[in-house]
Amino acid sequence: MAQILNNHLKPAWGAIEAGGTKFNCVLADEHNTVLAHTRIATRSPDETLKEAAEFFRQPILGYSLQSLGIASFGPVELNPQAKQYGFITNTPKLGWAHTDMEGYFQRALALPIGFQTDVNAAAIGEWHFGAAQGCRDFVYVTIGTGIGAGIVSAGNLIHGVSHPEVGHMLIPQKALWDTFQGCCPFHKNCLEGLASGPAMAARWNMPAEELTADHPAWVLEAHYLALMCANITLMLAPQKIILGGGVMQHAALFPLVREQFASLLAGYGQGEELNNLNTYIVPPGRPEQSGFLGALVLAKSAGVG
Ligand code: ADP
Ligand code: ZN
Repeated sequence: MAQILNNHLKPAWGAIEAGGTKFNCVLADEHNTVLAHTRIATRSPDETLKEAAEFFRQPILGYSLQSLGIASFGPVELNPQAKQYGFITNTPKLGWAHTDMEGYFQRALALPIGFQTDVNAAAIGEWHFGAAQGCRDFVYVTIGTGIGAGIVSAGNLIHGVSHPEVGHMLIPQKALWDTFQGCCPFHKNCLEGLASGPAMAARWNMPAEELTADHPAWVLEAHYLALMCANITLMLAPQKIILGGGVMQHAALFPLVREQFASLLAGYGQGEELNNLNTYIVPPGRPEQSGFLGALVLAKSAGVG
């Protein structure tokens, strides 16, 4: 009887955006229409993962959950051959080091699980549904509590022995202008240490969103982001760089970044993409949604193989 009923159920897929402050859990249908969602405060792994699994175990009238995609804060292990595949590895976040994310949900739900970093999932979301549709080469960067990037090169998500750590690229600090020592616990004045939201807050003694539009903070921030965009361009020659995350909600940053990027490249660099920076350095096409949309893509491909 259950078998017969199951045949009448429509497929649904699950997505988790696992963040340091909240877990965003979504159930969606084949058109990615959200059927149910919840936000769970990130506490201990035991409490948080249990509550998330309960959400996905709830019956949804007329639907049957096929698989789950997890977009996780990191660092995470993405090599399927590694013993700790699907784990959050050595995070400084208290209690979360060496947490088996993929294994937990596989045991709890007995379904295929797709697993990626949060920023790679957002890049996938932008690739399929947002500003990078049709691109074979692009970089999605989030500038928020941290800085991270998902890189798609020649149609593939780039992955070396680990996922790239664009946020920690080493950049020259603006001499004379900027005496802030930087806030990266590893490198102090790397990109993230100089240009993340918390770096801005520590340098100027107020949250970035409270800085007035004419504050010199924005020109300095644009300079660091332009350095990042120049390095990305010179190394990867993408078709597009998408800048997302909380700090980029200050939309006036975009023209400032483009202007300083042009001046840093000084006419160097090839490709017609560079002729129009308004379509080269762009905001996300699906802000707020690219993370869970990417996780749904991961869920659907986990269900296939
Ligand atoms: P997370 O990186 O934790 O996922 P966000 O991408 O939302 O979160 O980034 C949070 C950061 O963005 C905070 O440092 C915050 O100060 C900053 N931020 C949020 N809104 C704005 C805004 N309108 N302008 C500039 N910075 C902002
Ligand atoms: Zn760093």
